[in-house]
Amino acid sequence: MAILDKFSTLAARYDALKQSGSDPFSVKFDDIISSVEGVVNGKRTVLFGTNNYLGLTFDPVAMERSIEAIRQHGTGTTGSRIANGSYKGHEQLERELADFYGRKHCMVFSTGYQANLAMISTLVGKDDHLIIDADSHASIYDASRLGHAPVVRFRHNNPDDLAKRLARLKDVPGEKLIVAEGIYSMLGDTAPLKEFVDVKREFGAYLMVDEAHSMGVLGQRGRGLAEREGVEEDVDFVVGTFSKSLASVGGFCVSSIEGFDILRLAARPYMFTASLPPSIIASTISALETLRHEPQRRTKLRANSRRFYNGLKDAGFTVGPEANPIVAVILNDVAVATAFWKRLIDEGMYLNLALPPATPNSSAFLRSSVSAAHNDEHIDFAIELMTRVGREFGLIPDAEPDYSN
Ligand code: PMP
Repeated sequence: MAILDKFSTLAARYDALKQSGSDPFSVKFDDIISSVEGVVNGKRTVLFGTNNYLGLTFDPVAMERSIEAIRQHGTGTTGSRIANGSYKGHEQLERELADFYGRKHCMVFSTGYQANLAMISTLVGKDDHLIIDADSHASIYDASRLGHAPVVRFRHNNPDDLAKRLARLKDVPGEKLIVAEGIYSMLGDTAPLKEFVDVKREFGAYLMVDEAHSMGVLGQRGRGLAEREGVEEDVDFVVGTFSKSLASVGGFCVSSIEGFDILRLAARPYMFTASLPPSIIASTISALETLRHEPQRRTKLRANSRRFYNGLKDAGFTVGPEANPIVAVILNDVAVATAFWKRLIDEGMYLNLALPPATPNSSAFLRSSVSAAHNDEHIDFAIELMTRVGREFGLIPDAEPDYSN
C-alpha cells in the first residue's frame, strides 16, 4: 500500500465526492445515439460536454471511409512512424493539413497530447527557454517536464507580463519559444495573439499556438485564432488535435520552418509509439474535407454558441468572458458545482464538471461545449434546465415578476 500513500489527499477528496452522491466516474455512457444525444445512466440525454464542435462523429462518408480502410489495410499499423507505421494515408493527411494551413510541413501524431509533448520538448533544449501561459493545458505542462529547457510562466493572457519575462532573458543566449492556446479549454477565452506577436517580434522569440479548440471553429477558413486575428505569418508552429472538430483521435503540427522534418528523428513521442490506425486516418481526411467545404457548420456553431452563452448569461449565471463554443458557468464552491452537475445529468443534460486543481484560480465550474449539430430545441432545453435548477439552488435570481397582465 505504501507506494500509493502519496495519493491519500486525492483519495480523500474522491471519497468525499462519492459520498456526496456525485462520483464523476459513475457517469456511464450506455449508448451514443448521435453527435449530440446519448443514453447516460439509462436516460436519454442531450450531450453538452463532448468537444464535438462540428458534429462529425456520425458523418456517413467518414464512417464509410473508415470501414473501407479497415477492409483494405487492417485494424492497426502495429508500428511506429519511423518503422513500419507510415502508410500512404498518413502522408496524405500530412500533405492535406499542410495545404489547409498554407504551410510547407506537417507531422501527424497519435494524439494531440503527444503532438504537444513531442514538439515542445524537442524544439527547445537545455540552452533555450520555454515560455508558457500559466493556464496552459496539461499536455503543455507535461511537455515542459519532458524537455530540458528552463521553463518560464507568464500570467494568463497577459502580454505585458510576457514582455517583462522575455526582457529579463534579453541577454541570455539560446532560443525562446512562446506557447499559447487559441481557445482555452476551461473558460473558453482566446489568447491576445496580436499583442503576443508584437512581443515575440520585439524579443526575437518563436511562437507556437495550440489550436486544439479553435480549429474548425474560428477564422474564415476554420484554421483557428491565428487566422481570425490575421497573424498566421507570425505563428511559427501550429499544433492541433483530431479529437475535437475532426471527430477522431490524433494530433498534428504544421510549420514552414526550414529543416522541419529532422524532428521526425528527434521527437521521442513521435518515434516511440505506434502510428494511427488506417481507419482513423481515413475518417480524419474525410472530416478535414468537410471542415474545408462546409463553412456553414462553422456559422451554425457560432450562432449556437451565442444562443447558449447569452441564454445562460441573461439567466444570471456567471459565464466565461467570450461567447465561444466552450461555455463555462462559474460556481466556485466544489460541493455546489458537483450537486448541480449531478442534477443536470439526472435530468438529461451531460456536461463536464471542472474542479481544482485542474481549473484556473482553483475555481469550480461547469464546462459545456456547443456543437454545430445542436438544434435550437437542444439549446433551449439546456438553458431552461440550467435556469430552473440554478434558481432552485439559489445560484441565480428568480424570474422577474411578470407585470404584463
Ligand atoms: N491541447 C489542448 C488545449 C487540449 O484541450 C487538448 C485536449 N483536451 C489537447 C491539447 C490534447 O488533445 P488530444 O485529445 O488529441 O490528446
